Amino acid sequence: MRTQSKGKCKYCGREYTKSYMLRHLANCQERKSSVNAKLNNTQGMYYELDIFGKRDKEYWLIIEVRADATLKDLDSFLRDIWLECCGHLSAFDINGTSYDAVPSEDYYWGKPAKSMNYKLNSVLEKGMTVTYEYDFGSTTDLVINVRDYIVSSWRKEKVTILSRNNPPEILCDICHEKIAAVFCPEFEYGAFLCDDCRKKHDLEEDMLLPVCNSPRVGVCGYEGSRIYPDQFVPDKVTLEDKK
Ligand SMILES: [Zn+2]
Ligand SMILES: [Zn+2]
Ligand SMILES: [Zn+2]
Repeated sequence: MRTQSKGKCKYCGREYTKSYMLRHLANCQERKSSVNAKLNNTQGMYYELDIFGKRDKEYWLIIEVRADATLKDLDSFLRDIWLECCGHLSAFDINGTSYDAVPSEDYYWGKPAKSMNYKLNSVLEKGMTVTYEYDFGSTTDLVINVRDYIVSSWRKEKVTILSRNNPPEILCDICHEKIAAVFCPEFEYGAFLCDDCRKKHDLEEDMLLPVCNSPRVGVCGYEGSRIYPDQFVPDKVTLEDKK
């Protein structure tokens, strides 16, 4: 069994598993002082979201997003950090209503889809669970838990990452010993390979995909984020990191 992935707290840099991190963030002293220091300035409403891969829960994000941001903004953030490969369609499902990147006019059953131009505070409520799909062919499914709705100091950025899983070390599917360096979609119908095993097999180099910190690793042509590094960098570096 895989161990639960850990991540670092934005404010204090301490490392926890996701469930512990959610509890920690509610009590983190550095977070409190950071927010309180600016609370006298303009304030804003924020949602705290816990987002993870439906099939691969070791990939997770805990973010704060401005309540006046739109579903489109959240969609863009998810594409930027985890998903975008070749501009596939995507959709949120909120209480049975679909909010699509490109809502289709012709629907055959169910409710017609809405657009993503809705502000979060018009569709989200604390305690809700929302699902999200990127690419309706080789789909990456995400689950979004709306953990909280809070007042905080106003920030220009629509999304603030509070924590994110550290890049997981994926074992090579061939030797089961070394850490995988690439994903080959053709080899044995899709396999992670370490550098040694990669050299032993005659792989088509053009086909290889990098190992990246995303629930979309190895899917379609996904090559990782161009904006966010795989390792989340907290505001404060802990003593352990300085060694
Ligand atoms: Zn902390
Ligand atoms: Zn693609
Ligand atoms: Zn290997």
